[in-house]
Amino acid sequence: MDSNTPRVASLYVHVPFCAQKCGYCAFYSEASSGELISRFVNALVRELEIVAHDLKPKTIFFGGGTPSILNLRQWEQILRAMEKLELLGAEEFTVECNPATVSADKAKLLRDFGVNRISMGVQSLDEKLLERLGRIHSREQVFKSFDILRASGFENLNLDLMFAIPGQTMEIWRATLNEAMAMQSEHLSSYEVIYEDDTPLYEQLKAGEFSVDENLACEMYDQLISHAASAGFQQYEIANFARNKSKIQNPKSRVEEAPTLDIPFFACKHNVNYWRGGSFYGLGPSATGYVRGVRTKNWANTQLYCEQLEKGRRAIESSEELTPLRRAGEIAAFGLRMNAGWPFSDFKRATDFDLRNGWSQEMDQLAGRGWAWRDDDKFQLTREGLRFADSAAELFLR
Ligand code: SF4
Repeated sequence: MDSNTPRVASLYVHVPFCAQKCGYCAFYSEASSGELISRFVNALVRELEIVAHDLKPKTIFFGGGTPSILNLRQWEQILRAMEKLELLGAEEFTVECNPATVSADKAKLLRDFGVNRISMGVQSLDEKLLERLGRIHSREQVFKSFDILRASGFENLNLDLMFAIPGQTMEIWRATLNEAMAMQSEHLSSYEVIYEDDTPLYEQLKAGEFSVDENLACEMYDQLISHAASAGFQQYEIANFARNKSKIQNPKSRVEEAPTLDIPFFACKHNVNYWRGGSFYGLGPSATGYVRGVRTKNWANTQLYCEQLEKGRRAIESSEELTPLRRAGEIAAFGLRMNAGWPFSDFKRATDFDLRNGWSQEMDQLAGRGWAWRDDDKFQLTREGLRFADSAAELFLR
């Protein structure tokens, strides 16, 4: 890399600990243990030191796992290291929080170091379903933590909700949506429950303890879209909704760099960078990164991750150089998840390929099925097509 190469503008950090494992979760995380968490924090600081020279983050996202499980001292260690390495000051700095692990002190510390967005894993506001999912928080803790975050100065909050949970009726889903909308967050993410291999929920499904009602799941998704729209959210990706109204007093920097896409003001810029095929560093156990055509994956083993970093090297399990065409196919597929679809000029800028040349047949096929729509400037999935975005996206892979 020569000194003129632009530095990577996006950083993801995976914190691999949770208070306990939720019944549906296949993310790499484990129940926390004090000693291993301290060891992880030291290793993460080492990994940050290794990559800092190539990073100038505009967006940072601490996900997991449960990043908010780290205590004040551990957070301060990470944030001070980032300050020293000149990695702070991102335009958007998100930390995922579990409502059970938010405190006023922690919120203040995060805010003081430039964290300006919190994504809160709510999943449901029904006490019985929270228990069914194995969540450690109550519905009351959701409201309480939300108030703490607001009082600490956070003006950009996301709520994560799940639908099609076993035992969730349409009435329960509507009640959760009503209460969640009334909280007036800036952003909403909502995913259908996925039955991943090796999760307790999948085992229960296999054992016939409940069945999946596909029609109800579709109706719940429709309900989500119409509910979110009437509450003032703009959908910008299959599972993501954001407000346009600015509550930030000085939105100058965001306005100057407003994307060409039709996406709402409070859209998660970090995720938009993924869906638009941008580069990003991924640190922490199991994290993937993509930097200048090379995709890396860290070991999904915290012990091994720490051992590698303690020896002074990154804990990369595999790395793969993608051909430009293969990467372009992936970028086409990711981008279709967004309501804005692909303006042809944006796709060309991101990949150097013309969607109209390499993928014309696929675009016509989807348009013929009523799943997509194209004009001279862009290609995008219809509302029906967005529901089947994963199948549609597969056609674009090369
Ligand atoms: S808190 Fe999140 S990451 Fe942790 S087990 Fe539950 S769903 Fe998975």
